[in-house]
Amino acid sequence: MPDSRNADVLIVGAGPAALFAIFQLGLYGLRCHVIDGLGQPGGQCAVLYPDKPIYDVPGFPEIDGEELCERLLRQAAPFEPRFTFGRTVVDLARDPGGKWLAQLDDGSHVRADHVVIASGIGLFNAPPDVGVADAELKPGPAAAWPLERSRGGIVVDPATFETSEPGLFAIGDACDYPGKLRLILSAFHEAALATQGIRRRIAGGKAASVEYTTASRRIREKLGQS
Ligand SMILES: Cc1cc2nc3c(=O)[nH]c(=O)nc-3n(C[C@H](O)[C@H](O)[C@H](O)COP(=O)(O)OP(=O)(O)OC[C@H]3O[C@@H](n4cnc5c(N)ncnc54)[C@H](O)[C@@H]3O)c2cc1C
Repeated sequence: MPDSRNADVLIVGAGPAALFAIFQLGLYGLRCHVIDGLGQPGGQCAVLYPDKPIYDVPGFPEIDGEELCERLLRQAAPFEPRFTFGRTVVDLARDPGGKWLAQLDDGSHVRADHVVIASGIGLFNAPPDVGVADAELKPGPAAAWPLERSRGGIVVDPATFETSEPGLFAIGDACDYPGKLRLILSAFHEAALATQGIRRRIAGGKAASVEYTTASRRIREKLGQS
C-alpha cells in the first residue's frame, strides 16, 4: 500500500544534481522527497572523492567534494526537503490518478506529482578509504526502466530535461543529449531547466515566468534574507 509520504517532486538520487534541483524547485514552491540508496547525500563527490579538489565549479577556484555537498545542502535547507537514505527506488509507475508511485526496495511506496531521475552513474559501494579504482559500480534498477537511452544515459529534451516518458525528467550523469558533459556544472544547468519544464507542465504547457531570487520578496523571505 502507498504510504502517506506525498511530495510535489520525487528525486531519485541525492548527488549534486539532486541537491541543486531541491533549491531550484523550492524557489517555485515545489517540495521534494529525495531518495538515495547510499547512507548519505552527495553522490560521487561525497563517496568516491570527498577530499579531491574540484577546480571547475563556477565561483570556486578550488573546492573539495565534501565541502561542495555541504554547501549544496545548506542552500537547499530552507526548502525543507525530505530525505530517505539507504533505500533504493526499484520501480516507477503511474497510479490510476495519474500521480507517480515509486516502489522502494523495502516494499514501501512514495507518491509524487513529478519525478526527476538524478541517479547518476548508478548505485555504488565505496567507502572513502576504498578508492575510486576499487569502487563497486552497479547500474541499479534505473538502468532497466523502459526509457529511450543513448551513450549510457536516458535521452532527454535539452530544453526541458523531460524523458521519452511525458512527465518524467532526468538530469545529471543519468541523462544524455547532444553535447552532454558529465560534469557538475552541467548538472546544475540541467536542474534549473528541468524545474522550468516541470513548471510548464503544471501551467498546462504555458511558459511560466522566471523570478530573480533577489527581486522576489517571497523568495527572499524563504531564504531568510528580508
Ligand atoms: C574520480 C572522479 C572525479 C571527478 N571529478 C570531477 C570534477 O573535478 N569536476 C566535475 O565537474 N565533475 C567531476 N566528476 C564527475 C561528477 O562527480 C559527476 O558528474 C557528478 O557527481 C554527477 O552528479 P549526479 O548527481 O548526476 O550523480 P551522482 O553523483 O552519481 O549521484 C547519483 C546518486 O543516485 C543514487 N542512486 C542511483 N540509482 C538509485 C536508485 N535507483 N534509487 C536510489 N538512489 C539511487 C546513487 O547512490 C548516487 O548517490 C568526477 C567523477 C569521478 C568519479
